[in-house]
Amino acid sequence: MKGFAGPDGQKFDAALGLDAQHQPVLLPAAESKPTTATDPGQIPCPVCKLGTMLRGSSAYGCSRFREDCQFRVPFAWGGKELTDTQLKQLLRRGETGVIKGFVSAKTGKKYDAALKVDEGRVVPVFG
Ligand SMILES: [Zn+2]
Repeated sequence: MKGFAGPDGQKFDAALGLDAQHQPVLLPAAESKPTTATDPGQIPCPVCKLGTMLRGSSAYGCSRFREDCQFRVPFAWGGKELTDTQLKQLLRRGETGVIKGFVSAKTGKKYDAALKVDEGRVVPVFG
């Protein structure tokens, strides 16, 4: 839990627990067990919702790739290196803003598009 306001008005993070008399008490965050669920660095898989996205050498891939989820997002798409910000927007929100300068593999022409996750694939969205 986050955002409790202390007596001095300072916000602090804490977990709720029970003391020896079974009264609810606030446990300071430092004494509660760390959990990976609240790790801000972890990005849940937008496709299976069960795995987390792991950063590989050339793509983000779902941690459940050995099971049933083949979702991956290459760092380079459409002839362009995506920034970490763009990759995280795509993974966290399911889409990016418009990205300029993709190159069509068919025609060699440059084009601008947003990217979104659609049925487990990364697809361009044209405004
Ligand atoms: Zn997945």
